[in-house]
Amino acid sequence: MRDYAKSVELYGRTREHLAGGVSSNVRYASTPVPLFFERGEGARLHDVDGNIHMDYVLGNGPAILGHAPRPVIEAVARSLSDGQVYAAQHPREAELAERLCRLLPGAQLVRFATSGTEAVLMALRLARAFTGREKILKFEGHYHGWSDQAYISARPSLNEAGPAESPVPVAGSPGMPRSVLDDVVVAGWNDLEAVAAAFDRHRGEIAGVLMEPVMVNGGAALPVEGYLAGVRNLCRSHGALFICDEVITGFRAGLRGAQGRYGVTADLAIYAKAVAAGFPLALVAGRHDVMNALADRGVMHGGTYNGNVQSVAAAVATLDELTRGGGSVYRELERRGLRLMGGLRGLARRHGVAMRVEGLPAIFQTYFTDGPAPRNYREATACDRDRAAAFQAALQEEGVRITQAARWFLSTAHDDPVIDETLAAADRAFAAMR
Ligand code: PMP
Repeated sequence: MRDYAKSVELYGRTREHLAGGVSSNVRYASTPVPLFFERGEGARLHDVDGNIHMDYVLGNGPAILGHAPRPVIEAVARSLSDGQVYAAQHPREAELAERLCRLLPGAQLVRFATSGTEAVLMALRLARAFTGREKILKFEGHYHGWSDQAYISARPSLNEAGPAESPVPVAGSPGMPRSVLDDVVVAGWNDLEAVAAAFDRHRGEIAGVLMEPVMVNGGAALPVEGYLAGVRNLCRSHGALFICDEVITGFRAGLRGAQGRYGVTADLAIYAKAVAAGFPLALVAGRHDVMNALADRGVMHGGTYNGNVQSVAAAVATLDELTRGGGSVYRELERRGLRLMGGLRGLARRHGVAMRVEGLPAIFQTYFTDGPAPRNYREATACDRDRAAAFQAALQEEGVRITQAARWFLSTAHDDPVIDETLAAADRAFAAMR
């Protein structure tokens, strides 16, 4: 058994001063305790007990270039002596905005924020201000940050969630005012008729439709053929904005995110995580007339750290890396991801385990089910979560770190030898699970 004695001791100590011993509730999810790490390098993390983990959590997505990517940390290091925050603009910020507008689908203007949660709030405010309507349609199992306005039906218990055809909005946390539920309409994802029905029930009231264009947080699922374009068309005909939360899919589903991959363009899109390879930067990108409400309609968006020098320097360097070789970075990421997904499927078959591997090559999930691929949150939650957790624990014992929900994030640092090592470890993990 791997030894986690130092993590256990540190966790005990930390809990006396840091609420819950963690800085994000998502980090409780680890065994035997929330682990402590001291160093990350490429595809690997070193914990305080000296265990090495091949890391497929990657900070929950940002580390698209692996841990401590040289070109990014060198660019940030060069920027350090220029200062950190000016409460003003700077040339690197102008360059980054120009490059993102050239690159991202539908990005006529961008505005920087610091976290995905905040950028979602900016998009929701813009949608409401632009349309003069108050309701947002969101989807069960889709996570858009922990704010009162968005942490609704992100992981609802099915006892509270009502019928699948017309789910009841469920507040995700104590302390959220009940009033926020009045402004949200919840639907099941990947079901165009459910969106049409919601628009019919709330005629003239829906400001925007917010979704993860590939569901990741509620269980990885791809959009069914025609779904994204169908939702966009319904938004158009009902005068609502189509808002894609590309916080995970951005720079991961491809250089142009899920919108680029599936050939749809949102009115507003939200990016964070991989855009700055681990430094805190988020943004909203979208239509000129909508985004410009920040300038000409007095729609408020602020933030002390927005566009800070180091995060912007990191994002510029990240873009340099991701755009290198005219798309070759993503071709390689896809090839390796597909190899890993296929390898895991083959191992499951060989061990007689009913497991599905679903999602995109750079972000996928392993599901324990003998049924078809889950298409939405309810189908994903019907899969065997205890076995998924057991697989995660068995992999950790073999030196492979995935999320508690059995999601796998890939980086450009996960090369073929890392994937070979991972598959050998997974082989042992399957054997140990018997
Ligand atoms: N949207 C999505 C799709 C996310 O996955 C996340 C974070 N996991 C967020 C928004 C919130 O981003 P942040 O944690 O940076 O606030």
